[in-house]
Amino acid sequence: MVKAVVGANWGDEGKGKITDMLAEKADIIVRFQGGANAGHTIVNDYGKFALHTLPSGVFYSHTTSVIGNGVALNIPILMKEIRSITDRNVPTPRILVSDRCQMVMPYHILFDQYEEERLGGKSFGSTKSGIAPFYSDKYAKIGFQVSELFDETLLQEKVDRVCETKNVILEHLYHKPVIRPEELLATLHEYREMIEAYVCDVSAYLAQALREGKTVLLEGQLGTLKDPDHGIYPMVTSSSTLAAFGAIGAGLPPHEIKEIITVCKAYSSAVGAGAFVSEIFGDEADELRRRGGDGGEYGATTGRPRRMGWFDCVASKYGCRLQGTTDVAFTVLDVLGYLEEIPVCVGYEIDGEVTTDFPVTCKLEKAKPVLKKLPGWKCDIRGIRTYEELPENCRNYVEFIEEQIGYPITMVSNGPGRGDIIYRRSPLQKK
Ligand code: GDP
Repeated sequence: MVKAVVGANWGDEGKGKITDMLAEKADIIVRFQGGANAGHTIVNDYGKFALHTLPSGVFYSHTTSVIGNGVALNIPILMKEIRSITDRNVPTPRILVSDRCQMVMPYHILFDQYEEERLGGKSFGSTKSGIAPFYSDKYAKIGFQVSELFDETLLQEKVDRVCETKNVILEHLYHKPVIRPEELLATLHEYREMIEAYVCDVSAYLAQALREGKTVLLEGQLGTLKDPDHGIYPMVTSSSTLAAFGAIGAGLPPHEIKEIITVCKAYSSAVGAGAFVSEIFGDEADELRRRGGDGGEYGATTGRPRRMGWFDCVASKYGCRLQGTTDVAFTVLDVLGYLEEIPVCVGYEIDGEVTTDFPVTCKLEKAKPVLKKLPGWKCDIRGIRTYEELPENCRNYVEFIEEQIGYPITMVSNGPGRGDIIYRRSPLQKK
């Protein structure tokens, strides 16, 4: 059976922790989209790790970690990441990379930087990991699949052809040094050596695994609001962040996905530009940022301070719906223990009218938050293991949000560690 762990919002909801936790009972963990542009932070017995490309199951010796065809694969970064965990005594993980996975090329990273430079103040706030140029090339059909590394004639011919078009842009649009085909080919030969041992026909492997009754976890990156179709376009990422895309980005039949665990954080944070209706500023934001997550809300990949806000029921209800949520994992609830009152965004006011439906981007820019204040619980809830033991105001907060978003909160996370989880039976659960 297949389960997906995905985000309802802008990313950084705590998917890494939930995947690491669920991986204990899974056999295979698959990354199906995105690249090394975002990261998951995981705290376990080996220490604290920031993963960018590797699935969050790499810390268990019984699991296989898979990089699916939907991922933007940066081979040197993957190698570095494998070393970074094995250097810290994590047993060498079993890793498979899809032969249909495409590679982030050195020029994708350069184009990302050059384009942000060219756009100046109008930039998208890219992490400059080459992700947007990578996916543009994939869909323009000039991307490089891992499988192509093993066909020398094809590779040489393609390198020459691609350099021709790239060099026109480098020379005339960006006024930067051109790519030399022989250097690029040499780099790709190095990539071939690095990746050879991991290459696999992933969809066939997964089909066989499912026949054998194995459990597969699909691990999403970012969240619904960064989806190129259903998110806050154009301030989105370049690959679909939805569980449905897990079927495509891993090579699985969609009907195999039986559980969709959507991760929602008990407050909001976002990185990069774009509308963020429940955003807060100044001291209020600084304090939440400082206390947030595990050691502050700063990007796992970039170290950038995250933008902060109150929980947004409108965005989260929409985020959960588009994911096809069966279960909500509600995370980082412990962080809110310092607040006397906790504001929650329950509606958007747009042109004088209040709505609870998440609008298209041009309307979203005009939305003002309608806030409701809930009483805080003013204590530390870390270490609590049953829902009933949580303070009443804390349970009221969870139940209020559950009612607003309309999806069952079956897991409450009250700390960064694997064991910091409270399972709960929800009145909204169908099963
Ligand atoms: P992801 O990309 O969705 O995996 O999220 P990140 O890893 O960027 O951010 C989540 C952060 O919150 C990490 O530092 C986690 O260790 C931390 N975290 C996850 N769940 C909890 C929780 O319940 N409580 C606290 N305090 N921190 C948590």
